[in-house]
Order: sequence, then C-alpha cells, then structure tokens
Amino acid sequence: MKHQTNLIFDLPQTGENKNRILQKCDVIKPNFPEFYGEDLLRQEDLDIPNLSEIQVLRHYTNLSAKNYGVENGPYPLGSCTMKYNPKVNENMANLPGFKNTHPLQPVETVQGNLTLLYNLEQQLNAILGMDHFTFQPSAGAHGELTGIMMIKAFHEANGNLERTVMLIPDSAHGTNPASAAMAEFEIREIKSNASGLVDVEDLKQKIDDKVAGIMLTNPNTLGLFEKDVKEITGLVHAAGGLCYYDGANANAILMQTRPGDMGFDVVHLNVHKTFGTPHGGGGPGAGPVGIKKILEPFLPKPVVKKIDNANQPKYVLDYDRPQSIGKVRAFTGSFSVYIKTYAYILAYGKQGLAEVSEAAVANARYLLERVRDSYHVPYQEPAMHEFIITAAWQKEKYGVITTDIAKRLIDYGYHPPTVYFPLIVQEAMMVEPTDTETLEGLEGLADAFNSIAEEAAENPDLLKNAPHDMPITRPDETKAARNPILKA
Ligand SMILES: *Cc1c(COP(=O)(O)O)cnc(C)c1O
Repeated sequence: MKHQTNLIFDLPQTGENKNRILQKCDVIKPNFPEFYGEDLLRQEDLDIPNLSEIQVLRHYTNLSAKNYGVENGPYPLGSCTMKYNPKVNENMANLPGFKNTHPLQPVETVQGNLTLLYNLEQQLNAILGMDHFTFQPSAGAHGELTGIMMIKAFHEANGNLERTVMLIPDSAHGTNPASAAMAEFEIREIKSNASGLVDVEDLKQKIDDKVAGIMLTNPNTLGLFEKDVKEITGLVHAAGGLCYYDGANANAILMQTRPGDMGFDVVHLNVHKTFGTPHGGGGPGAGPVGIKKILEPFLPKPVVKKIDNANQPKYVLDYDRPQSIGKVRAFTGSFSVYIKTYAYILAYGKQGLAEVSEAAVANARYLLERVRDSYHVPYQEPAMHEFIITAAWQKEKYGVITTDIAKRLIDYGYHPPTVYFPLIVQEAMMVEPTDTETLEGLEGLADAFNSIAEEAAENPDLLKNAPHDMPITRPDETKAARNPILKA
C-alpha cells in the first residue's frame, strides 16, 4: 500500500463511477449525425478508468504524498537551494487585478503591474548596488546569457571586436562556461588555489587585451566568499574587461554586501532561489539581470520607464532602444514570479533580508561543525550559506562512496544533498540547510550524517544497498536522463 505505484488504469476497475450524485441529464440530446455526419460519432466507449470518486481521490492524494519537499522536512540540496516559499506570495500573485491581466493590454490599463515592476527594479538596484534591472530572462542560465550578450554588445559598440575571451574560474557553476560558449566567447579557465578561492596569480597570467570579461560566482560553488574580489574586478577592469557576478548565491550576502560595490557591471539573480519563489517541477523561475549605467543602452527591450507628464500614463514600455540586444523573451518575463519576489521583499523588509543571510550562513556553519569529525572537509575558509564535505575517508577505508551516503540519508527520511558537485572536489557533498531550517531540523540532519558515518565503518553493505525502503533504489542515472521511458 505504502509504495503503491499503479497507474490509475491499472487499479481494479470496480465499475463504481455510476452517477451516484449527479441526476440523470434532462437536456435533450441533439441529433449530431444530422449536423456532422455519422462518421464523426465515437463508436466505442471512452477508454477512461471505471472508478469511484473516492478511488480517484485516494490515487492522486497518495501520489502527491510521494513527493519530498521543503514542506516535508530538511532539504539540504546545495546550490539548487529549494527554500521556504512564503504562502503570502501565492496570495499576492493570485490577486485578480494581477491574475487577470493580459500582456497585450494597453499600458494605461496595466499601470499597477508596471508600478510593481518599476518598484521592484528600484528595490533590486538598492539591494545589489546596480543601476538597472531587466526582468525578461526566465532562469539563472538565461540571465547569464542575457548579461554576457550585453557585455558583447558593449565591446562591439566600442569597436573592440578582438575581445573574445571570457575568464571563468574552475569552481564556476557549469552554466557559466555554457552561457559564455553560447554567446560565442572563448573560455579561459582560472585555477582555484589551495584555499578554494580564485588564484589571483593565475588570473594575472591569463589577462590580456583579448579579455572581454570575467564571470564570477560569489560565494563560489565551494560555499566560500572570494576575499580578493576587489582586486579581481580591479585587474579585469584595468585590462578593459567587464565583470559578471553570478548572483545565484545572493542569499548569503543579502544586505551584508553588494556586487555593485565589489566592482561588478552585471549580476543575475535566481529569484527562484534567493527571493522565495518556488522552483519545484521545473518552474516557472526568473533570472533578472542587474547592470551598471554603461550597459544601459543594451538592455533587452521593452524597458519600463517612468514619465513625468500629466498627459501621459505614468509608466510606459519603452521600445525605442536602437542599441538593445533585442528580446530574450516575450513581454516582460515571468510576471507572476516577480509578484512573489516583490511580496517577499516587502514582507521581510530591510532588517528581515539581513536576517535571511545571517541565518543562512549561521545554519550552514552550525551544521558543518556538527559533522566535521565524521567527514573530510576539503577547505578550511569559513563556510557561507553552504559547505562541502566529502566521502574521501569512507571511500579509502570502507569502499563507501558519496552515492551510498546520499542514498542512506533517504532511509533516514531526508532529501540528500547535492552530490559530485562542484567537479573539482572528489566525492563531494554540497550541503545547504537554508535560512529557514529549524534547530531541530539541523540536529536531525547532523545526527543522520554522523550515524551514517558510523554505519560506514561497521556495516558498509548497509550503505551500499541503500535505500532499503523505496520502490526504486538505484536507477541507471545516465540512462534515466538520456533514455527515459516515460510510459508505464
Ligand atoms: C542554479 C545556479 C545557476 C543556474 O540557474 P538556473 O535558474 O538553474 O538556470 C547558475 N549559477 C549558480 C551558482 C547556480 O546555483
């Protein structure tokens, strides 16, 4: 019963879908053949399951309970950061005035929506230290592409066609080199040093007059703050390049420091990570991109503009932008997602957002200290919102690998952390408890990690065969991704 995975078609067809509640229809049946011809009439009965209402209800309710999310328990999936999504956001996005607007409505009838986008832009400018934001991109990676297309347009407008190289540290998120390649940049990798930070000496070696810019994630994907960030942006600027900040980890720095002040010209945010909008099941997300003034002419169009003229609507969509990189998505992006972003910022306020980043970092550091004696910790710089531990000790002594530990966590009732990422760390586990995790949740996770480390020593097979209580245990993950069978 617990792991009942039948399709609804495979349930016992009890024939109980008789009209128990509905009265017999007393509308006279029209004579369809007379209008449309005999051949359009269905000859057989509809092939739908012959079930009672309670069977259907139970089927779908049980299916929904198979999901494990942040609303079930701790969800330490580092980097992807599935977080608490305040319910007030949903209420706001569901307000009829927002919900029932159409993107093709004349601007004078959607002044409220444009006010929201305009105000949100001001808020994000203030929080990140930027001058403008575009809301078009649909996700983080899409924001990256949009941002570096603006960098490219900037160099082209200045006649610097030889600037074709994008500098990217080896600890970067995989989407960074992918986006740079899509925008037809040549990628030059910068090494990390032994502390897990950008190796500034290596950067100096790799800067020349072909450099268009650098893409930096901060805190980086090892969960560490780039201490030399001002020197890094200074070096790139001095060489004529621009600086891109991957702000997917902005939850670690909210109201503490700003990419704009660190010298960055472009930043993308994942509001489906940092600003409390859901991203389960593939979206929709949004990846707004902030820029400094020098890139303003290249923003995707239209841009929301405020007009001080009593004869015109106060907010308009400005399409007259000759140097714009064009559209990267229809209209102004995932509007309903931005309602949630706006609600989140207003609900927390300045002080509340500062507490979000403080709690994100404090929770990660606490959890790391609780598991530090059980697992190898590859970097000793203070962790920010997430940290890396590895299965190196367990692998060497007991032949237990990261997959085994992650699978065993499922037996303990937890979602595993991100595994085998970042790529520069062997047997990596990337753990992000998030700002909203409770002390009880943190203790439970720590106890599970520590107890699994003991099991690895005493009974490695227990881990190698985990999970023990799931309908599917160890699928061929490559095949599942490359050759999925989506039919039962
Ligand atoms: C998640 C993430 C991205 C990509 O964002 P998507 O919204 O998944 O496209 C880029 N960089 C970092 C550091 C991330 O964590």
